[in-house]
Amino acid sequence: MKFVVVTGGVLSGLGKGISTSSIGVLLKSQGLRVSPIKIDPYLNVDAGTMNPYQHGEVFVLDDGAETDLDLGNYERFLDVDLTGDHNITTGKVYRAVIDKERRGDYLGKTVQIIPHITDEIKSEIRGVGERERADIVLIEMGGTVGDIEGMPFLEAVRQLGQEVGKENVLFVHTTLVPVMGAVGEQKTKPTQQSVRELRAAGISPNVIVARGERSLEPDTKRKIAFFCDVPVEGVVSAPDAATIYDVPLLFDGQGLTEYILKTLRVEPKGEDLEAWKDFLDRLKTPEKEVEIALVGKYTHLKDSYISHIEAFHHAEAAARVRVNLRWVESMDIEKKGVKILEGADGILVPGGFGDRGIEGKIAATRYAAENGIPFQGVCLGFQLATVGFARAGLGLKDANSSEFDPKTPDPVVDLLPEQRSVKGMGATMRLGAHEIHLDPGSMASKLYGSATIHERHRHRYEINPEYIPKLEAAGLTYVGRSDNGRRMEVLELRGHPFFVASQFHPELRSRPLRPSPLHLGLVRAAAS
Ligand code: GLN
Repeated sequence: MKFVVVTGGVLSGLGKGISTSSIGVLLKSQGLRVSPIKIDPYLNVDAGTMNPYQHGEVFVLDDGAETDLDLGNYERFLDVDLTGDHNITTGKVYRAVIDKERRGDYLGKTVQIIPHITDEIKSEIRGVGERERADIVLIEMGGTVGDIEGMPFLEAVRQLGQEVGKENVLFVHTTLVPVMGAVGEQKTKPTQQSVRELRAAGISPNVIVARGERSLEPDTKRKIAFFCDVPVEGVVSAPDAATIYDVPLLFDGQGLTEYILKTLRVEPKGEDLEAWKDFLDRLKTPEKEVEIALVGKYTHLKDSYISHIEAFHHAEAAARVRVNLRWVESMDIEKKGVKILEGADGILVPGGFGDRGIEGKIAATRYAAENGIPFQGVCLGFQLATVGFARAGLGLKDANSSEFDPKTPDPVVDLLPEQRSVKGMGATMRLGAHEIHLDPGSMASKLYGSATIHERHRHRYEINPEYIPKLEAAGLTYVGRSDNGRRMEVLELRGHPFFVASQFHPELRSRPLRPSPLHLGLVRAAAS
């Protein structure tokens, strides 16, 4: 088992996750089993309680783990299904160590960061690699080298490197090369300084990935190689790319795959990036263009909807249709009316929490329903499509979700029965993949090409089963169910060209070569 460790320098937001995922793609293309791990040095046990406005989307895995959005990048790039063990946080590590201390496992010793915390980190990393029989464990260190929170993790991977020996570990450091002055000189000083910081932690990089607007000049590459004591082949440009899916090929084109194999003494098994290249070709040669309005509340931070954005890219390639997203703040619909949705070829109302902008989202579902505009609802969008229909189609004018109006006379969306006794906020929702049965004649089963599917969930509320007979009689049909038919999972509006919503999140399992069937359905309907 070998290890590739990716650290970040200079500043955050350099696309370390994309660089890590891209390196994973290159290794996988060589026939190697790659197991990715994201380390998040924050004290939260998991990302489930974090506000998407601060941290981006919470990514949910099959096993229900609520993780950092980088896990989504790994799943999409490597086409693997991960588990919560692939996300290690300070909160998890300390909790494990403190639990052991309370049980008396440390036999009276003083429990310390070194060796107890660092041992725990190493054993979690090795555990994942061993369980998955990985050839390469790919570890991305969150944060920036020098952050106090990250120190125990850096120390742990340093020790790991020492234990396994030089030919079994590769350190990749990602930095920024800014361009300054009238002549546009590429500046290497920030890179030099952050490598010095890394060395102070006892780690010498084998690869420097340099982010910047443009590729590095040959002179800049040589300079970085010289000052950072890395071979020139180990210095890789990561210029702005047209799409994130270009990055593996950008790295491969600079000889990174060969250099990594050589450094880790791994025999190349021939390269297979054909399917990847084919996906990129299709993505870049659309035959049509559509505009989809995404009606949300965190539209200022696009990372809150990253899985939807990516699911649309996957659909773009499959349908050969370019998707332009129109970001619509649901509060703006409340202020200015549904006319701001005019001209959109399709509408998506995604998931969300809290009552801000709810009425705007409901109005969007009605606008789509009444004007025959292709519509997809996800989770909250599914619940609000039901609320809107109950008001308009059943005349229950005060119908609502009890999440937003606990006193509503018609709680068409209500708390899941098992949620009534839940007190804490962490990991307490209905989470992860569940089996869903689709009616054979439904649009959804046609799109999935199957009557049984598995999709991921993250919610506390559900459609109130008491209202189903009335809703269905009036034309809103529930064509997907789970838990022996008890829970509503998919709805379709009778007589509408495409009005499909799901309680689950199909965007979370969308992959470049296996797009979310419902996003693809929306894009195709919008294009027709
Ligand atoms: N707030 C809703 C619920 O808890 C929807 C959740 C979501 O959209 N992820 O059920």
